[in-house]
Amino acid sequence: MTLDSIAREIRKDVVRMHRRGSNVGSAMSAVDILTALYFDRMHLPSPDDPARDRFILSKGHAAAALYATLAQKGFIDRSTLTQFLADGSPLMGHPCAGLVPGVELSTGSLGHGLALTVGMALAAAHDDETHRFFVLMGDGELQEGTVWEAAIQAARLGLDSITAVIDANDLQGYGRVGEIQPVETLARRFDAFGWATAEVDGHDLTQLSETFARTPFEPGKPSVLIARTVLGKGVAEMEDRLGWHYFSVPEDKVDAFVSEIDGETP
Ligand SMILES: [Mg+2]
Repeated sequence: MTLDSIAREIRKDVVRMHRRGSNVGSAMSAVDILTALYFDRMHLPSPDDPARDRFILSKGHAAAALYATLAQKGFIDRSTLTQFLADGSPLMGHPCAGLVPGVELSTGSLGHGLALTVGMALAAAHDDETHRFFVLMGDGELQEGTVWEAAIQAARLGLDSITAVIDANDLQGYGRVGEIQPVETLARRFDAFGWATAEVDGHDLTQLSETFARTPFEPGKPSVLIARTVLGKGVAEMEDRLGWHYFSVPEDKVDAFVSEIDGETP
């Protein structure tokens, strides 16, 4: 399968899963980033291979995109995706480590993913392990002070095994990131904190893959990839609309949304 077709399958599963629960727009925003990482960049022979690269979903509310990706990867049974958010299901609204193969850390309390990744990368360096760490953060999440404390430490420690990815869709829970607490000039901010930076179209799989292939961008520095994205990408009704941070997909819209992602006239 091509990366394009994998991303399409993941998007369709994300739509179907969100008959229950919210955050479908946040999940759709991250699908191409996950596809480029899991199916091109990351060394990931199995969920428990000690030498595997690690992925941390700091924006844990996009859990459905991670589960659908793990299903495409074959780490979880795709038929279980229908149990997303069902009572007793391990596929919770935020990922829980130990319950789902391939979930490295329990996340969703925003602002903590990078700090946890710094700790994991420091431990790996101490043990002379060479696997890489990829951590995906939302842009609203960058308003948290812990992110910048972690950024300082990652640079000071020279942790070039870390690549942070910013899913920069300019929306967060209650509005535009640019209006609530702007975190623009992201590349300059990270550069000032001692990181090596790149900026890409977060829905261009070729650009994403080519940029991930260059990580670390500079030896001795952590890398950050600022991915410009669109909330709800793939379904016109959802794209860049704050409401889809919260809405479930109504049953009578599921088929039309899936057809649209397939490129058919709804
Ligand atoms: Mg956002």
